[in-house]
Amino acid sequence: MVEIKNCVANLKMFIDGEWKESETLEIRPVINPANGEVISYAPEGTAADARAAIFAARRAFEEGVWSGISAQERASYLFKIAHKIEEYADELTQLETMDNGKPLREAGFDVGDAAACFRYYAGLITKPDGFTYHVADPMQAMVVREPVGVCGLIVPWNYPLLMSVWKIAPALAAGNTIVFKPSEVTPVTPKKLFEIFEEVGLPNGVANMVMGAGPVVGHEIASHPEVDMISFTGGTKTGKHIMKTAADTMKKVSLELGGKSPNIIFADADFETAVDYALFGIFAGSGQVCSAGSRILVEESIYDKFVERFVERAKYIKVGPGNDPASEMGPLVSQQHMEKVLHYIEVGKQEGATIACGGNRIVSNGLEKGYFVEPTVFINVKQEMKIVQEEIFGPVVVIQKFKDESEAVKLANNTIYGLAGAVFSNDGAKALRVIKKLRAGITWVNSYHPTYNEAPWGGYKQSGIGRSLGTFGLEEFQEIKQININLQVEPIGWFSN
Ligand code: NAD
Repeated sequence: MVEIKNCVANLKMFIDGEWKESETLEIRPVINPANGEVISYAPEGTAADARAAIFAARRAFEEGVWSGISAQERASYLFKIAHKIEEYADELTQLETMDNGKPLREAGFDVGDAAACFRYYAGLITKPDGFTYHVADPMQAMVVREPVGVCGLIVPWNYPLLMSVWKIAPALAAGNTIVFKPSEVTPVTPKKLFEIFEEVGLPNGVANMVMGAGPVVGHEIASHPEVDMISFTGGTKTGKHIMKTAADTMKKVSLELGGKSPNIIFADADFETAVDYALFGIFAGSGQVCSAGSRILVEESIYDKFVERFVERAKYIKVGPGNDPASEMGPLVSQQHMEKVLHYIEVGKQEGATIACGGNRIVSNGLEKGYFVEPTVFINVKQEMKIVQEEIFGPVVVIQKFKDESEAVKLANNTIYGLAGAVFSNDGAKALRVIKKLRAGITWVNSYHPTYNEAPWGGYKQSGIGRSLGTFGLEEFQEIKQININLQVEPIGWFSN
């Protein structure tokens, strides 16, 4: 077991360059999901706290302390942030494990990715953008990119650090000022990230963080007229609510939402590779991953063999606290979320599906105080069942059977979601044919889960609007302006008098 801290000092919000309590002084416990213990207390921010942050961000934007400096200078701050993330990598990794529950190995990858994301956008923002186009003399025309303004960034709890960085890095690179809200469940590493912002000396008001409940702080950010854009990652239901709220002030909206992603295994796939990635696709992050491969579709000739091998291996996944190097899968993030996942397992049973393994909370071997659920596999499912259609966001997978390529595609596309998907086959042409028919934004062939800062991340259908990461992720945080310049300054003479 790796000895990690079991508590951190009470958290504060960061508004206009200062650490603040909630205006009501109310606080909320932050819980370690591996043992149910309180690790810290976070301020319970209010709408007034959110407004203070919004006004600070607005002032900083209008003063041009960030948007008005050169891209090179902004990039130098982002490089320093990346460097600091690496300097504090061990601390950040441990804090993430303590707060979210994920094994140290997973948390460590997130921290490395977070540093790389800042570095990627630091590099990207200094590259040429915009263009000119040819029009008749004496006009000169050009297109430039500008920051959107004050951006409200709202994130979930499954990757507390990385989801924050996926938004903050491109938003800051583009010259925006931000009002950021972490999940009320996992505010610990976001707070450390803002300490880094203070350490590298971001000008006051450029990056602000307000903690607290979604319907209070998040709602204020989504509805306030001084916020120009909302970038949200979270559940589809919340995303719809935010989109409606933001419509009143016509904010630019970017939404990264839920998924129920298909992982299609053909009989000609490399069998052990397919089983291995299918396990990783659903049980990494305890299934609390938006792109999780939560529906495995297997060609009927290998279905029984696949289920047998998958279940055999799922049973051996070592579930335990994230700070135990032997743990391969951690707890769910909170009691409330564990109850939601266990409820879905009951629903699956009531719907008539068969549990091939798992199905229970783990209450032995010292795990009884944490929120641990067994890797759970459902078979004998029907397409219309809730456990096939709805995002469970836990270590619960359905394994379905298909006859041929066209049935695989039909089943794969038959949910409201369209976030991710994968195909396993040694027939390259077939794999690509199927991938091209998937209505999803993130796909893999003979792989599952790798993500790159360079590539656009986002979904089709009800999995969201817009894209994170890559050049696309930067453009989300930019406005586009055409500038037409008259090079011969004299009256047009349109009217006779
Ligand atoms: P959630 O929707 O409950 O909460 C997300 C954030 O929104 C939190 O900060 C929350 O406080 C805030 N919020 C809640 N109600 C709000 C409101 N009325 N107004 C403004 N903000 C509000 O989601 P969650 O349970 O924290 O996270 C899990 C979900 O996130 C899953 O559905 C998962 O698929 C999704 N997710 C998607 C991606 C992606 O890239 N597509 C990545 C990670 C997670």
